[in-house]
Amino acid sequence: MFSSELIKKFEATPTPFYYYDTELLRKTLAQATAAARKHDIEVHYALKANANENILKIIQGYGVGADCVSVNEVLRARECGFAPGKIVFAGVGKSDEEISIAVNEGIFCFNCESLEEIEIIDGIAAKHKKKAQIALRINPNVNAHTHHYITTGLEENKFGINMWEMEKVLDAVKKCKHISLIGLHFHIGSQITDMNVYKTLCLRVNEIQQWFADRNIYVPNLNLGGGLGIDYYNPDKNAIVDFDKYFGIFRQFLKLNPGQKLHTEPGRALVAQCGALIAKTLYVKKGIQSNFIILDAGMTELIRPALYQSYHKIENITSHAKETLKYDVVGPICESSDCFGKAIDLPETKRGDLLALRSAGAYGESMSLDYNLRDRAKSYLTEDL
Ligand SMILES: *Cc1c(COP(=O)(O)O)cnc(C)c1O
Repeated sequence: MFSSELIKKFEATPTPFYYYDTELLRKTLAQATAAARKHDIEVHYALKANANENILKIIQGYGVGADCVSVNEVLRARECGFAPGKIVFAGVGKSDEEISIAVNEGIFCFNCESLEEIEIIDGIAAKHKKKAQIALRINPNVNAHTHHYITTGLEENKFGINMWEMEKVLDAVKKCKHISLIGLHFHIGSQITDMNVYKTLCLRVNEIQQWFADRNIYVPNLNLGGGLGIDYYNPDKNAIVDFDKYFGIFRQFLKLNPGQKLHTEPGRALVAQCGALIAKTLYVKKGIQSNFIILDAGMTELIRPALYQSYHKIENITSHAKETLKYDVVGPICESSDCFGKAIDLPETKRGDLLALRSAGAYGESMSLDYNLRDRAKSYLTEDL
């Protein structure tokens, strides 16, 4: 990913920073959208993975829609060129003000997560003399077999409406005059790499659609959410996920109603591999078990390892040392969880060496914090350097 020319440019750039390989991003988007066309699936990019405006403008250029989880994401999507008719708005806790702004923007669909929310959207739409389109986010009670912090489709999770309350929800929908039910929505978790999980979801969705058909309810849209995982261990070998296979599973196992449109909302799979966090070695310190590499980037720039014990491949991109040593790679933040990796094999590392934390394009910059009053890291696209 890093040519010697590029590394020279990195060395002249203040650290830490995010680097986005736009050639890889474009290739990923080209493959994803080609596979989506082949399988007749509408893609909505989940902004929460990375809402960097330059990245969004590139993504929007491929004609995909936007999946937002706050009204600020809706507005960001609008600023970056996404048409309101291609924006969906999900989230368990949409505030009245957020709903009001999104109703006025005329977005495609609110993915509703509770009975109370549906009634509130109806009331707000009435006030604006508008009709809001909604989908029911259903909790399918399917285990995504991923980290429990990013599992969302089990009954114990806060997300979605459970089938045992669906009769009541449909009664409410019937009474609401300023909403129209246009879809069913599912999202069971993130970083899902086992394709059997998606097969299980499809079969469950078929059962749920049958439940609706038994009540003579046919909605024109079916949204299977996001969650497609990437290979954090081999970012170069598996830089782009197999979108054709992923969409193919939906086509193979889902039973759609005649004319029903299929939607999906990938976030991570579109942007993770194109991003790297570039940090400088501040100090190398001897420990008892291993040595510490103390970087000028930490959990404030990339929180995933601290939050989900997740793995990012770490490379020393400037050392020419032959000898490899074991290091704990840590950040400067006053938290012991501020650690990117323990006992990592790296070429002998010295103060000033640049390290790359790979696959950081999703849930990196977008989850960054200013804890410890740290400055926000800058970000650069290939063409900026
Ligand atoms: C987070 C989220 C996504 C995207 O998930 P990825 O794992 O990044 O693909 C899609 N839809 C909803 C509703 C989400 O909350």
